[in-house]
Amino acid sequence: MKKFSIAIHGGAGTILPMFMTPEKELQYRRGLQAALEAGSSILQKGGSSLDAVEIAVSSLEDFPLFNAGKGAVFTNKGTHEMDASIMDGNTLEAGAVSGISTIKNPVQLARLIKEKSGHVFLCGKEAEAFGKMHNIATEEDAYFYSEERYKQWLDVKDSDIYQMDHSDKLEQGEKKFGTVGAVALDQHGNLAAATSTGGMTNKRFGRVGDSPMIGAGTYANNATCAISCTGHGEYFIRAVVAYDISCLMEYKGLSLKEACDFVVNDKLVKLGGEGGLIAIDSLGNIELPFNSDGMYRASLKEGENPFVAIYK
Ligand code: ASP
Repeated sequence: MKKFSIAIHGGAGTILPMFMTPEKELQYRRGLQAALEAGSSILQKGGSSLDAVEIAVSSLEDFPLFNAGKGAVFTNKGTHEMDASIMDGNTLEAGAVSGISTIKNPVQLARLIKEKSGHVFLCGKEAEAFGKMHNIATEEDAYFYSEERYKQWLDVKDSDIYQMDHSDKLEQGEKKFGTVGAVALDQHGNLAAATSTGGMTNKRFGRVGDSPMIGAGTYANNATCAISCTGHGEYFIRAVVAYDISCLMEYKGLSLKEACDFVVNDKLVKLGGEGGLIAIDSLGNIELPFNSDGMYRASLKEGENPFVAIYK
């Protein structure tokens, strides 16, 4: 039996410390802690990393301060279009979904797609119909609404600007991506990763970011690592971030730390891609690199104290 480990994120970017109130910081920390506990209690009991990342991400989706599930950002049309993905590092099976607006927990639909559809990636209304066929929980528009997100959208809705889960308004001082994700290694030595997002505020034309793209925003392979990304999705897609880290380990023999450092702090920076990721390797090592001001993140290794952080 291996020692389990788990890491989660609630998005890179962050509210600048000078604008963060102690109450708000406490809420974020509580949201992260709850998700970490939900995931680690599965692993503690000998459960699978796949279940752990699904449960941890579902918990973050249910928490309105993060940009996924409840609290997802608004599109240019004032709607929600959510994306999610999940991957099993043991079998290399994966499920992904994009552009859905009625599914309570998009990560659960991604898992269902992995297990029951015979496909990897479904989108839009048809993906929702597939989920409903399997009795997945749905919600009305009002469930996903959050006043803060609505205001962020009103600021940019009549422009061509699409932006991260943040408002450029200085008085709000927020610059944050807000996507959520989890990676885990279970006691059986299996890795898994999952990511879920509402994408970018005011996005249009059916824009999809890296989060549901296997290899870009999410990847898991028992031979190397499990990765979940957050940041400016266009750059993460172009840099094929999650798979690139796995490849650097598999083909070049880099350690998890070396591979993460290179991709996040060199390759992405040169491209102009802001963001970060969470990573676990098959030995249970954890890396939480980011090139933004901060990243909502938490991790736990069996037998050690939990780690929760926002800023650098
Ligand atoms: N990566 C996400 C996207 O581009 C955004 C985020 O991380 O918040 O859709």
